[in-house]
Amino acid sequence: MLRNDQLDQWDRENFLHPSTHLGQHARGESATRIISKASGVYIEDRDGTRLLDAFAGLYCVNAGYGRTEVADAIADQARELAYYHSYVGHGTEASITLAKMIMDRAPAHMSKVYFGLSGSDANETNIKLIWYYNNILGRPEKKKIISRWRGYHGSGLMTGSLTGLELFHKKFDLPLSQVIHTEAPYYYRRQDDSMSEEQFSAHCAAELEALIEREGADTIAAFIGEPVLGTGGIVPPPAGYWQAIQAVLEKHDILLVADEVITGFGRLGTMFGSEHYGLKPDFITIAKGLTSAYAPLSGSIVSDKVWKVLEQGTDENGPIGHGWTYSAHPICAAAGVANLKLIDDLGLVANAGSVGGYLNAAMKDALGDHPNVGDVRGEGLLCAVELVEEKATRKALDPTRKVTASIVSAMVEQGVIARVMPQGEIIGFAPPFCLSQGEADKIVDATTQAIKATLG
Ligand code: PMP
Repeated sequence: MLRNDQLDQWDRENFLHPSTHLGQHARGESATRIISKASGVYIEDRDGTRLLDAFAGLYCVNAGYGRTEVADAIADQARELAYYHSYVGHGTEASITLAKMIMDRAPAHMSKVYFGLSGSDANETNIKLIWYYNNILGRPEKKKIISRWRGYHGSGLMTGSLTGLELFHKKFDLPLSQVIHTEAPYYYRRQDDSMSEEQFSAHCAAELEALIEREGADTIAAFIGEPVLGTGGIVPPPAGYWQAIQAVLEKHDILLVADEVITGFGRLGTMFGSEHYGLKPDFITIAKGLTSAYAPLSGSIVSDKVWKVLEQGTDENGPIGHGWTYSAHPICAAAGVANLKLIDDLGLVANAGSVGGYLNAAMKDALGDHPNVGDVRGEGLLCAVELVEEKATRKALDPTRKVTASIVSAMVEQGVIARVMPQGEIIGFAPPFCLSQGEADKIVDATTQAIKATLG
């Protein structure tokens, strides 16, 4: 086995890491943690340190680590048929079965699924299909996409543009001109304190409508949003938000993309977030939980309404000019089939709902009154603790103090991994669905102790 110091050196010399301070890492100013194994909700590094992964990797190991059923399905598929493509009508038992399993679980008005490998490429597919759709319908001007500030939709050129976080635009010449952003449904950070949640939702819908009218509805193709804002701070929508937004979209004939990369396949305690909040999307983006990250796989689910136009488009123009080599890769599809079956067999969607409710309530009980905890919020197995300088005024902490990063480091000392969300002083939690109440208590205890040790 290679020594840790050898791996550490090779890492710094050769590996350009994503979402990392490159200079600091290459110079050895930040740690390299080499993860070697995992089981259930626990990961272990090469030094033998065992940590409760309260973020399920990147909100993706939904079924938990070490699932031999999924590992065996991958190995069997690799031995039997490692690869064949899915162009010009080709398929495999795994990919066709998985498509059927996805559509059996998706809302009734959805029609078919296109496979990709990442949430980013699935959203790129959505945007291309939306443009194609409007070209086929003879409205070539209707192309702009509205996204929300604090939305996260990927790191590609278009998807990085849709992402409404400054860090993902800065020095990359993004967003591209076809993308425009509207207000985030971030009730805690509302400008007008006197607004109820419903009034704030109506305000967000009015802002959206004003933007549409300024730009001209005939130039706007679609609106994209996560049912619950994820990387932008884990923010569930205020009451009535999706109803108000959907009414505006319908009025102006604008398609809705529900980006369910985080919420798809159970994280909110329902199979899809669309079900949870009463969304009727034209596209649903899926990734992470589709395979619980045992293999990379994503999908763009299109509605009946969209499918009919795509079908008309190829009848008029020939085959659709959009394909990835690894679309519906059989090894990834086999992982998806085994994962979705396991989620059903173990009742993990229901567990995500019940243990998620427990985690959120326990976190509120433990921290709701702390003077530096401005907000504890969540839905299902998503939870966030937002820290402030002053509770009453919601005054922000001085970012140069890096308080959240210190707390999350202190939590690692307590054996729990949480995430420093990229914008604001927010600790994020998104554990695997097999979390027990005892493990939820451990997350809450570690968070409470780390906050008290850092802030008093
Ligand atoms: N959409 C959402 C809602 C996401 O959370 C993410 C990833 N965190 C993506 C898209 C992009 O997925 P990927 O990183 O697999 O490209």
